[in-house]
Amino acid sequence: MFKRWLGRAPQDRPFPREWAEILDQNVPLARALPEQDQRELERLILAFVDEKTFEGAGGFEVDDEVRVTIAAQACVLLLHRDTEIYPELDTVLVYPSAYVAKTRTYDGPVVIEGDVPRLGESWERGLVVLAWDAVQRGTADVGDGHNVVLHEFAHQLDQEDGVMDGAPALGKRGRYATWARVLGDEFADLVDRVHAGRAADIDPYGATSPPEFFAVVTEMFFEKAVALRARHPELYATLADFYQQDPASFAAAAPRRSAFADD
Ligand SMILES: [Zn+2]
Repeated sequence: MFKRWLGRAPQDRPFPREWAEILDQNVPLARALPEQDQRELERLILAFVDEKTFEGAGGFEVDDEVRVTIAAQACVLLLHRDTEIYPELDTVLVYPSAYVAKTRTYDGPVVIEGDVPRLGESWERGLVVLAWDAVQRGTADVGDGHNVVLHEFAHQLDQEDGVMDGAPALGKRGRYATWARVLGDEFADLVDRVHAGRAADIDPYGATSPPEFFAVVTEMFFEKAVALRARHPELYATLADFYQQDPASFAAAAPRRSAFADD
């Protein structure tokens, strides 16, 4: 379903009150959005939950809290953009707690996708795997720059053009040149810093590869928008052009809990 159809869908359902309460309690990122964006987000959440299958793994029971909390954050990445709702994605698989990838442990939100490429292309394209405890940690603190849902769904966007290379489908040709230059330079700088043991204000995990860099700066764009805009203005502007959002502007207008944490 194309997003542009959502606005005029005759069967526009009201957003359930229970779901609104889940957003109130669990998803400060959604509640910090401008009013109009919150309405668009609600329509996206309804469609996402309709279209995608959520499955529990490892004995985990998926309920509306799980569905709405994950869908809300996934759909923040789609606001304002004329795009489909993760067309490659069929299933969100949720474990109760951190599943440690064999090849990698990561101090922060646990990144599960490390093993996924080895499970095959169809998994990579159709599936997102999340640990509910990591989702909760990433969701509760909206200013720490770590959010495993934003991270995994940035990878989904990256893959939509058929190749996971650190660049989502950008549309206009000129945007690719800007993307390659700005993100390429920032990625190279981060790699240099990490190898030299120097401090970096972007999560060093982003130095792993261009796709991880895109996922990590997406987390920062939404959770440390003000700091990212101040210290990496070109990177911020390039992401703002892609996401068609300016989270630093409304973060500044309505300061959120620890949104300005300056680490
Ligand atoms: Zn990743």
